[in-house]
Amino acid sequence: CGIVGYVGPRQSLSVLMGGLRRLEYRGYDSAGVAVIGPDGVLGTAKKAGKLAELTAELAEHPLADGTTGIGHTRWATHGGPTDANAHPHLGDDGKLALIHNGIIENFAELKGELLAEGVTFTSETDTEVAAIMVGQRYRETGDLTEAFRQVVSRLHGAFTLLAVHQDSPGVVVGARRNSPLVIGLGDGENFLGSDVAAFVEFTRRAMEIGQDQIVTIRPGSVEVTDFAGNPAESREFEVAWDA
Ligand code: GLU
Repeated sequence: CGIVGYVGPRQSLSVLMGGLRRLEYRGYDSAGVAVIGPDGVLGTAKKAGKLAELTAELAEHPLADGTTGIGHTRWATHGGPTDANAHPHLGDDGKLALIHNGIIENFAELKGELLAEGVTFTSETDTEVAAIMVGQRYRETGDLTEAFRQVVSRLHGAFTLLAVHQDSPGVVVGARRNSPLVIGLGDGENFLGSDVAAFVEFTRRAMEIGQDQIVTIRPGSVEVTDFAGNPAESREFEVAWDA
């Protein structure tokens, strides 16, 4: 439902929680965050319920804060609104975290393939198949953008996907099809959001991502390609916002 991503010099947890708060107006039933900590280990926290539940969870089980992270508010479509079904979902080695807006129409077929490989699932969501698949492709390629490229072409339906991998600190990769995703351009930092509300507190310079495109943000760079890897032209615009 709501999506935010961050790379830059800031500790990302407060950026993510602030972004999720400004996306609350869209409605949601669960929330979660994933951050690559200073020790290079991925940490996640997720809870059914309002953002206050996630805040309480973070107070009880603090996450090592770091400068690369993603956050999600969920509106359940596949699997009830439980802690386990909340996003982020992890790859099968626990090193990758992925969030998703939308519906992966062919998830049952993909899940069948993964079950046959012996993969075990921890949620009832359509999303978890994408987390597992991108994690597998990352192991083969060592490159999060390339891993995305290989997976998104297999997904049908509507999706905005964002992921981080602990072996690629300082990188957030996103993709979109039939579902919105916008880049927020900062000075030595960059943002991703399901809409500009996610980052407008920090920057009003934004960039559109077209249909069927993949974006890779780092603190000092933004790269947009189509699903085949060809560079895409993106239009920068100024966010007019009175809040
Ligand atoms: N289909 C996914 C789920 O049920 C994502 C829902 C959303 O857009 O928040 O977990």
